Amino acid sequence: MSRYLSSKYDKLKPYVPGEQPKIGEYIKLNTNEPPFDIPLSVLDAVKKEAGNMMLYSDPGSFDIRNAIAEYYGTNAENVIVTNGSDEALYLAFLAYCDKNTPAVFPDITYGFYKVFAEFTGIPYTEKPLDDKFNIVVQEYFGAHATVFIANPNAPTGIALGLDKLEKIISENRDSIVVIDEAYVDFGAESAVKLVDRYDNLLVVQTFSKSKMMAGARLGLGIASAEIIEDLNRIRNSINPYNVNRMTSAAGVAMLKEKQYLEDCRNIIINNRKYLTSSLRILGFEVTDSMANFVFAKHDKISGYDLYMELKNRGILIRNFGIPRIKDYNRITVGTEKQIDILIDNIREILENK
Ligand code: PMP
Repeated sequence: MSRYLSSKYDKLKPYVPGEQPKIGEYIKLNTNEPPFDIPLSVLDAVKKEAGNMMLYSDPGSFDIRNAIAEYYGTNAENVIVTNGSDEALYLAFLAYCDKNTPAVFPDITYGFYKVFAEFTGIPYTEKPLDDKFNIVVQEYFGAHATVFIANPNAPTGIALGLDKLEKIISENRDSIVVIDEAYVDFGAESAVKLVDRYDNLLVVQTFSKSKMMAGARLGLGIASAEIIEDLNRIRNSINPYNVNRMTSAAGVAMLKEKQYLEDCRNIIINNRKYLTSSLRILGFEVTDSMANFVFAKHDKISGYDLYMELKNRGILIRNFGIPRIKDYNRITVGTEKQIDILIDNIREILENK
């Protein structure tokens, strides 16, 4: 830290992303990326658009917003696109939280909510999940705060039904409810269909997981036209060219690959069942995940030790070191072959315990 850094950042604890080693160095099951190839149509679209990179991107992101609106059955005025969904969440913190409207989210959830709240100096409350890691829905009624719920939740993978989510939204008509649907396509129900009915709902999604574009950074928000206007007001005060040309072109082309995306999603859902049952056979406790990862612990080995032993064997998984979940690891659902290698290694590690 230099001596010039503003003292307001003295206590700042930045988000710690999962390790990103060189491609091929590890079997990488730590940051929930899909294990599939990018369709040629998407590669072609990116290559073509790269020829225009001397020009700024469209600050209104017209093409990609229209493509998203068509894909989700909504209108472009109800869509904002962002540099990853992290940026959409950040805009929501900036737009809808302050000293009078704090943030509220579960104690175990996506780590960036806390980082954003602390970075922006917003007071926040963390509501404990119950002892089975379920969100206690009633805790969020009449919150008088901006509510952030990841559905499915991360890193547990557990999803709330749409009826329960709707109850949280309808019981907070005086404040915004943000539903972070980063993993929704792997088995949970989307709240996008509620946007027409609730002007306090902002649904955030990403192209990073089921749409296989984590490295391109494309996120989105779907909400009433007024909410989208609020978010654009802030976006245009920070970074109007937030989505680059190549990423927009990739997104438009990717949304046309509906069947491929569907096939990939189904493979992940099947592989998740395979990974979950294989881990349970080895004696792991595994949550019922609706995401492209599982969350598991074993009585014979600490979460950190398992993470380290696998790392030494060339396999990366994610341990969070948070007291309540320190014995759990989050493991991305990969290919069947990756799962077999993982399970063989875990079996060997456990045999030596
Ligand atoms: N929400 C959740 C719950 C996540 O796990 C992630 C991925 N780290 C994100 C949002 C952000 O993803 P991205 O910025 O890649 O869209």
